[in-house]
Amino acid sequence: MFDYHIHCSYSDDCETPALEQLRAARAAGVTELCFADHVDFDGCHIDGSFLRPADIAARNAEIEALRADFPDITIRLGVEVGLGDEAAAKNAWAHIQGTNPDFVFASVHLVKGVNAYAPIYYEGRTKEEAYARYVEHIHACIRTNPYFCVLGHYDFCAKFAPYADRTFYYAHAPEHLDGIFRYLIEQGKGLEINTATWQDSPCWGLDALTRYRELGGEFVTFGSDAHRPGRVGWRINEAVELARAAGIPYTATFQAMQPTFHALDKL
Ligand SMILES: [Zn+2]
Ligand SMILES: [Zn+2]
Repeated sequence: MFDYHIHCSYSDDCETPALEQLRAARAAGVTELCFADHVDFDGCHIDGSFLRPADIAARNAEIEALRADFPDITIRLGVEVGLGDEAAAKNAWAHIQGTNPDFVFASVHLVKGVNAYAPIYYEGRTKEEAYARYVEHIHACIRTNPYFCVLGHYDFCAKFAPYADRTFYYAHAPEHLDGIFRYLIEQGKGLEINTATWQDSPCWGLDALTRYRELGGEFVTFGSDAHRPGRVGWRINEAVELARAAGIPYTATFQAMQPTFHALDKL
């Protein structure tokens, strides 16, 4: 089982030590994982305070010292970079370039300065409007970061949405999703299935992933986005089933930013 989106205490919004996440991964049956701590230079804030970028070198040193105790888990060292504008991408790269990341994925948290999970983001907007606005924003800024490997949580707007049915549908923003998918495909980049957005709802994404495949999408990564040990590996098996159902042939793991593809029907 691959979980390519795990946070630890080096992320400003996470208090769980890497050691605890690794123990949780072992208990959950995760065989390969990637730490993906936040490096945001897009002005990302939580409850009014700015999210400080993770000290990736210090994190790597801590995890290197733990590696010998986890010979059963392939541990990769990655980063979740906030997608915003060219300056955000450039500053994030300057912050991480000396740390030889295995994997970098980019994700949007802020839409025009407002965190897309804050109650104010949804105020006065229908679900359709709030979701379309988020996806439109990804589409508008996806070209600002040339180096990311995978787009993280394309449906983040649904994660803490206040609507009775939070389900994210392809039909919320078909043109923008098509534009995003086409760009990822032509650039050889991939798409993440993020299991945290589902929370405890039934999983969704079959329509969007089927379209991604239809346009030529060949691989996805799976990420629990775990900030707590109980979430490591959480619902990854369902995400694999979903990708298979959409006809997506591969998942990828990464080392030194280079993908290795694994056929989903052989996992
Ligand atoms: Zn994120
Ligand atoms: Zn994350």
